[in-house]
Amino acid sequence: MQMIKNYINGELIEPISGTYSNNYNPSTGKVYSLIPDSDEKDVELAVKAAETAFPSWSVTPKEERSRILLKLVSLIERDLHKLALAESTDNGKPVKLATLVDIPRAASNFHFFATGILHDSTEAHLMEDKVINYTIRQPIGVVGCISPWNLPLYLFTWKIAPAIAAGCCVVAKPSEVTPMTAYLFSELCIEAGLPKGVLNIVHGFGHKVGSAITAHPKIPAISFTGGTATGAQIAKVAAPMFKKLSLELGGKNPNIIFADCDFENALKTTIQSSFANQGQICLCGSRIFVERPIYEKFRDAFVEKTKKLVVGNPKDEKSNLGAVVSEAHMNKVLSYIELAKEEGGKILAGGHRIILDGDLSEGWYIAPTIIEGLSFDCRTNQEEIFGPVVTIMPFDTEEEVLAYANSTQYGLAATVWTENLTRAHRVAGKLQSGIVWINCWLLRDLRTPFGGMKNSGVGREGGFEALHFFTEAKNVCIKIA
Ligand code: NDP
Repeated sequence: MQMIKNYINGELIEPISGTYSNNYNPSTGKVYSLIPDSDEKDVELAVKAAETAFPSWSVTPKEERSRILLKLVSLIERDLHKLALAESTDNGKPVKLATLVDIPRAASNFHFFATGILHDSTEAHLMEDKVINYTIRQPIGVVGCISPWNLPLYLFTWKIAPAIAAGCCVVAKPSEVTPMTAYLFSELCIEAGLPKGVLNIVHGFGHKVGSAITAHPKIPAISFTGGTATGAQIAKVAAPMFKKLSLELGGKNPNIIFADCDFENALKTTIQSSFANQGQICLCGSRIFVERPIYEKFRDAFVEKTKKLVVGNPKDEKSNLGAVVSEAHMNKVLSYIELAKEEGGKILAGGHRIILDGDLSEGWYIAPTIIEGLSFDCRTNQEEIFGPVVTIMPFDTEEEVLAYANSTQYGLAATVWTENLTRAHRVAGKLQSGIVWINCWLLRDLRTPFGGMKNSGVGREGGFEALHFFTEAKNVCIKIA
């Protein structure tokens, strides 16, 4: 059985405790590899390695940092199929999705920041009397990057690429549920010649490794993506230590469909925004609001198309959905379907676990589920489910749908479908959401600010915001005599 190792000080090593935990393949429900059950001692080693590497890496010329990161891009691209297969086996997602989205995006993350640092500039503020202020941005030091299981390598690299590019050294923890591609990536770092200690990957549980990173006094900045409750816990520890925090948290995203929309485009994209990656993308739209004149037509077409989606072996090209990430997560999602029924919801499609044949019979599959007849403020419509489950309901006015959309504690992403440009702008302005897509979904320009309002997060990733997060800004004021 494959044993994953920590990547510390440029080497692949066992956890100090020598203990491991099971890593499951969600498509079969079986253990297929072992993951280090690391603890604060491994984190300490990683911090020491990062601290030792920092003085040299932080002054390594940008061109050289860029060159090494671009080497990583070509290695990720070379190993596209191997990494996509590994991501699918670890996470349950279709290989096709990992091949088209997850792994290419991991390469783009490195490409974007490797070239971005070559184009960064700084501000100067001129005062009267020959006084000049200019801003220096210096890498902040050793930083912690903690990522979730839904887009494993994609989100892991979205954090570590800007950190390393900015000149920081990193102690990173991928999700214990999906560690494999981060492990394979550590092998690529060795091959690319990334200097030892610049990136350190410590595998293990959040309550051991994650909390040791968060509490470590020599880590002044934490970039975290995950659930809102975990984000709150991290903030509680980090705030009294005055750590810089970037928190990308949960969502309960509205998908607003006006009667004047491009119907076929809205329908096709809503299938994707509801069920891509088994609905386990923080940006998936899980509350669908449809303007009454087209409500029944849209609902019926949406249900018909959803029922045709194939839930199957993630390795099969024909599968639209694979398995959800873990048994615990499957049970959580199924419990929300039960809650929806208790709250008066009518199941229009799905609503149950799917048992596949043969080797896959113990895998964690859920039929894509549509629920109608719920109020906007019930628990099903307020709490994050993070699975292939959406609700659908009609609305009559713009004010009404904005009240529904903005009613949750979250504010990550929203989608609006209308051909009326004036309304599109007006609604976008009033949505309490860090990202608004009009007549599209998941179109990402890596230069744009990415993040959530309200309990969906603090700070923004993407573009120079991400690079600047990993630096301290310093103002230098000079008076020329
Ligand atoms: P979790 O919050 O459970 O975990 C995220 C990461 O934090 C994991 O690596 C986890 O470790 C670690 N962790 C857990 N407890 C602690 C702790 N006390 N201190 C430090 N680290 C800890 O989220 P999930 O992995 O379940 O991911 C799903 C969530 O992520 C959803 O809420 C989703 O909306 C959100 N998300 C947000 C995105 C955004 O950009 N806003 C993007 C993608 C997902 P481990 O699991 O190994 O124990």
